[in-house]
Amino acid sequence: MRNQCVFTTHTPVPAGHDKFEYDLVERVLGKVMPFEILQMLGGQERLNMTLLALNLSRYVNGVAKRHEEVSREMFPGYPINHITNGVHSWTWTCDSFKALYGRYIPGWANDPAMLRQAVSLPKDEVWVAHSEAKTRLLALVKEQTGIALSADALTIGFARRATQYKRADLVFSDVQRLLDMVRRGYPLQFVFAGKAHPRDDGGKELIRRIVAVARQTGDQIPIVYLENYDLDLARLIVSGVDLWLNTPQRPLEASGTSGMKAAHNGVPSFSTLDGWWIEGCLEGQTGWAIGAREAGAADADSVNRRDAEDLYQKLENVIAPLFYQQRQRWLEVMRQAIALNASYFNTHRMVQQYVTNAYLS
Ligand SMILES: *Cc1c(COP(=O)(O)O)cnc(C)c1O
Repeated sequence: MRNQCVFTTHTPVPAGHDKFEYDLVERVLGKVMPFEILQMLGGQERLNMTLLALNLSRYVNGVAKRHEEVSREMFPGYPINHITNGVHSWTWTCDSFKALYGRYIPGWANDPAMLRQAVSLPKDEVWVAHSEAKTRLLALVKEQTGIALSADALTIGFARRATQYKRADLVFSDVQRLLDMVRRGYPLQFVFAGKAHPRDDGGKELIRRIVAVARQTGDQIPIVYLENYDLDLARLIVSGVDLWLNTPQRPLEASGTSGMKAAHNGVPSFSTLDGWWIEGCLEGQTGWAIGAREAGAADADSVNRRDAEDLYQKLENVIAPLFYQQRQRWLEVMRQAIALNASYFNTHRMVQQYVTNAYLS
């Protein structure tokens, strides 16, 4: 039985590791095996599903290289590997980029490794495909919120479950600094989306804070929070913004996948070095890192302050100037995001690794 099981652990966050009282286990399953053996496999106090799976599987993996390291610390003594997540290329590429890839990289959909050829896509056509996706997103924003965003302003996207470790409000730690950027000739606008779990009060509070900042910045920095985040809305947002922001608290993001979706549409990521981004970030080539590789031992507040400072520095001095003043260089970053990251962080590569590293090992 153990020989037939492969187990993927999915998150370092405790809520993702179910534990059940043994009397509940017995009520539901009956006496499946002697209690002492069940305890040996699943833990003394309660049945820990992760521990049970670790003990009953012949191959175990995390969902990114960093997640392998973190999982080994959480469960000492277990040989844990990693197979980094990917997204389904055809599903997450918007229509205008599908058409562009179809013209220049025929066969890409069944063999997304071919997207490495994106380095030589004509830049003007990349920009046209991106502008089409942006126009579609702005139309939806207008329809849902009544707010007319600008087609020319640097548009930053942030969409994922609203929960505290994702720090959706980090970019608003110092709103004045963003307003100063706008005054210096770098217009900014933000598209947010994401629901909180019904019992996650911290997550709900994050949404309230962002809506409050939106009221405060008004027309100076338009910020929209879109409702009903789902797969269709996600596809519109990851393809329609100019920059994909992600600010998880290290090391809690096991992988993260929305930045991979953005890369399929030529949208570079701007993210803390956690989860997949440690593997996907080539500074200034596929996007930009926020903060140091290790958060260090500092308390949460100082880590937040340092990360925010680095975020503002790069946005002001590197990213906005590149977007507004060096469009040709910006387009090179867009092409590299596709060529280096969409070609690799996809489910074709991922399933292949499950076959060779896990199933057939
Ligand atoms: C991709 C996706 C997610 C996960 O995004 P992460 O970056 O991994 O947090 C969540 N919800 C929806 C609707 C998505 O499309």
